[in-house]
Amino acid sequence: MGNSTSEGRFFNRKRETMDWEKRTVDLERKFLKTVQHAHQRSNAYREIFTSAGIDPSDIRGLEDLEKLPVLRMSDVVERQKQDPPFGGFDTIDPGRLRRIYINPGLIWQPGEWDYKDTSWAEGLCGIGFKQGDRIINTFNYHMWPLAFMLDESVKMIGGTVIPTGVGNTLMQVKIMQKLKVNGFMGTPSFIMTLAQRAEAMGLDLKKDISLDTALVGAEMLSESLRSRIEDKLEMTVRQGYGTVFLGCIGYECYHRTGLHVPDNIVVEVIDPSTGKQVEAGTTGEIVATNFNTSFPMIRMATGDLSMLAQESCPCGRTGPMLTKILGRIDQATKVRGTFVHPWQADEVISRYPEVFKYQVVITRENHNDIMTFVVELKGEISRPEILKGRIERDIRDMLTIKGVVQIVTRGTIPDLHKKIEDKRTWD
Ligand SMILES: [Zn+2]
Repeated sequence: MGNSTSEGRFFNRKRETMDWEKRTVDLERKFLKTVQHAHQRSNAYREIFTSAGIDPSDIRGLEDLEKLPVLRMSDVVERQKQDPPFGGFDTIDPGRLRRIYINPGLIWQPGEWDYKDTSWAEGLCGIGFKQGDRIINTFNYHMWPLAFMLDESVKMIGGTVIPTGVGNTLMQVKIMQKLKVNGFMGTPSFIMTLAQRAEAMGLDLKKDISLDTALVGAEMLSESLRSRIEDKLEMTVRQGYGTVFLGCIGYECYHRTGLHVPDNIVVEVIDPSTGKQVEAGTTGEIVATNFNTSFPMIRMATGDLSMLAQESCPCGRTGPMLTKILGRIDQATKVRGTFVHPWQADEVISRYPEVFKYQVVITRENHNDIMTFVVELKGEISRPEILKGRIERDIRDMLTIKGVVQIVTRGTIPDLHKKIEDKRTWD
């Protein structure tokens, strides 16, 4: 804060531009404290460390990170089944929970009384938001945590949130117009939907809509879509990347050189088969450690592929930077012997502007793989079966295997969803 041009907004300029060596000393202290705290308070980490033959005293600095096992979402799910609700990862008094968040697949997440994580707040400032901004938060407030985390983070930077959630495009456009909303948080496809809706209502996007800055996330943003939104609305669109368990892991600043890693998280890029770090400029899986005192995440794997950037950014931030997200480690899924990539599914769906959001779900019935495109539409359409038939034909043509389309109501597919969800079980 305290800087008026969007080129140079910081949450804490002194820290974010501090000599990296100096800042690392502090990160290391926080990391060691987190390991101690997790070992003392969390049954899950105590067991994980013990079965890996690690005593917390073996961990003396950030260079010992690689000694710790990588934590996968599947491990959390397994532990939550055995030790409900949080799988023993929680480290605070259960009477001091503000909320219990729900993630897809009924994965529970404790929400601390006072939200302390500043990673999204730093991201918001880096993206260009400032004190006094009026921001619509179009992420889903029902069950999933992301909308609340961003809501709390806007408070930290002194902005005002209009908690609109998903859907209701007509009302959202009116809200933007009447309240002179200047900020947007949501998916890139949803801001495009709002722009199209406003145009259809006969509004002048440059005069009637005051949007100047957007934080988009939870979906891949193509550069063509970014420039279309920026041109149509005369605004700046920047990406925030993170997970609900870890918080913000990277954000784009004005210069758009990559994803700046926030101050309060340690990010590694690893080889998923060995758990060892790879060099800057080499693709690997993003793994992160945060300093959350109620639900610490130590070497949590994201499943996302990226690389550490080798260049620095003209904005003056000294911390590490990731290049863009390159995809998922579990991207390709084999269905009936044929690989299906998320980009292929994207290619099919990009032909249908009626589609708001989709997810491919793979199941197995009577020893046959079933591929279902679960689809949410932007609005009501008169003959959904025709659309369904057209998409199914394109799936067969472009993916060379049969798929079925299932149209569902808006809000069914969670904000942070896997593009291809493999629900097959193999006995
Ligand atoms: Zn920068």
